[in-house]
Amino acid sequence: MERKKLVIIGSGPAGFTAAIYAARANLAPLLYEGFYSGPAGGQLMTTTDVENYPGFPEGIKGPELMEAFRKQAERFGTTVLTEDVKSVDLKKRPFEVKGDQTHVHADSIIIATGANANRLDIPGTLDGEFWQKGVTACAVCDGASPIFRNNELFVIGGGDTAVEEAIFLTKFGKKVYIVHRRDQLRASKIMAERALQHPKVEVIWNHVLEKVEGDNVVRYVHLKNVLTGERSKREGAGVFFAIGHTPNTAFLDGQLPMDQAGYLQVEGNSTATKIPGVFAAGDVQDHIYRQAVTAAGSGCMAALDAERWLSSQKLI
Ligand code: NAP
Repeated sequence: MERKKLVIIGSGPAGFTAAIYAARANLAPLLYEGFYSGPAGGQLMTTTDVENYPGFPEGIKGPELMEAFRKQAERFGTTVLTEDVKSVDLKKRPFEVKGDQTHVHADSIIIATGANANRLDIPGTLDGEFWQKGVTACAVCDGASPIFRNNELFVIGGGDTAVEEAIFLTKFGKKVYIVHRRDQLRASKIMAERALQHPKVEVIWNHVLEKVEGDNVVRYVHLKNVLTGERSKREGAGVFFAIGHTPNTAFLDGQLPMDQAGYLQVEGNSTATKIPGVFAAGDVQDHIYRQAVTAAGSGCMAALDAERWLSSQKLI
């Protein structure tokens, strides 16, 4: 079985940045970019314009940015495999990584499989309908789009993300509604207060989204009062899901400690997990920042951490 110094699992900004640094350190990393599990390149592949990634004053399309990451990683000697990782065995050394078709030994591993924003299976919000044409799951990524300006926007959820996104969206929208299925926000008190006191934010309590309608962009949302069953149709140009994220860790089969929400836990200000030689970078271990640039930064940290660890173990 082939033995690699470093295997990177995941192909978003964290995975590819780790690969760039590791390849330049002559670790010849093998990177699994995924196939069925989600778009290779991560969440940016489903984003249109990325306007907050430093270095691109005019913005850049998400897929273009990821193509550039990939080329840069390959230029320095990263091998990219278009395969999902099915399982890993972290109990023995070298570690074992099983892909759909390949099976390799790894002295060290960086897990950078990201987290997916949860979406609801609601008519009008799906791919090929209004997904990315007014329906999104990231206000920070998409909120500045002209389709939302001076329009009525709807954030679905009641946690910190919902509240934070609603406040962020007040910069662009005429009015921002938080549609929450209960009569109390889950968000922290301080964040909730900020939203409740904001003149442009209104919470629609005890309601759920039932349908989104439009032409080439979103025009109407259909809501239902969960207490009375009463239905209403409102004008709106944007629907922002803020109902949590799910980190992609199923293939780990519980071998690494996670927090309550399923995010991998890392030690101190590093990317080290509880298992020496296994590192975690990007959204799979970050429920707070979740930005491409922070993911890239932690990918860099993971490569440096892995290199130092390999060197300390005399594996390089
Ligand atoms: P969250 O706390 O899990 O909240 C998810 C919200 O979505 C909840 O209000 C939930 O309703 C609602 N929801 C879930 N499934 C739903 C469904 N099927 N239909 C309708 N509503 C649904 O997720 P989050 O807001 O993304 O926060 C995740 C973690 O990150 C939290 O620990 C949070 O504190 C942290 N965070 C911190 C900050 C910050 O400090 N600046 C910012 C963002 C996130 P219920 O309340 O009824 O369950």
